[in-house]
Amino acid sequence: MCCEIYTGMNSVTQISKLETINNQIASQEIEAGRKKGSVNLIAVSKTKSMDQIKPVIDEGHSHFGENKVQEAVMKWQELKKENKVINLHLLGPLQSNKVKKVFGLFDYIHSLDRNSLAEKMSDEAQKKGFCPKIFIQVNTGLEQQKAGIEPEKLSEFMDTIQKFMDLNIIGLMCIPPINEAPETHFRLLKELADENGLLELSMGMSSDYMAAINCGATFVRVGTAIFGLRQYG
Ligand SMILES: *Cc1c(COP(=O)(O)O)cnc(C)c1O
Repeated sequence: MCCEIYTGMNSVTQISKLETINNQIASQEIEAGRKKGSVNLIAVSKTKSMDQIKPVIDEGHSHFGENKVQEAVMKWQELKKENKVINLHLLGPLQSNKVKKVFGLFDYIHSLDRNSLAEKMSDEAQKKGFCPKIFIQVNTGLEQQKAGIEPEKLSEFMDTIQKFMDLNIIGLMCIPPINEAPETHFRLLKELADENGLLELSMGMSSDYMAAINCGATFVRVGTAIFGLRQYG
């Protein structure tokens, strides 16, 4: 991409980091009494160029995450037509007017957080005859600047979706506040998922994915620890 600065990282590094993380996940599954293979690793490739991502794809890795719709269209649209194994995850906020664009490109959407968006997605699902797998984002830290539905409003939101909409809700997602112990938030998210009969939990990033696995994560979203630091131009 135009603004990418060379970070001195070659593909060998990415692959060995990926392998290390896969091994860590496998042993943490055992350690935490989780089922083998119950944790999926999403390689978060936002801001990274296809040159940097390609080696990870060639290694057979299948889950990738982006946080901007336009960037994802440019990087993945063509590639996904040839490579049917790739599962693409939208991790960032979704504007209602982009719903049409994300259907068919993303297999998973992690950021459903409001009624109006749910309605748009439900309409689109009916039109298209399919629906991506959806996580509801929960603002576990009640942070004003952060997206996500408040924990206490979740069950009402779920009720509304179940009664009036046609959506494939599979689980919950959270991004804990940066300066708090993440476990508190991971446990809260797990509780909320249990209460609402949801099986999947999208939680844990480069700094805390092991803790997230202990708390029941089924999808961890790891960027920096695989691809190195991001440069924003
Ligand atoms: C960027 C991002 C990640 C990955 O963060 P790292 O700290 O680089 O692992 C995970 N989740 C979301 C929602 C993100 O935007």
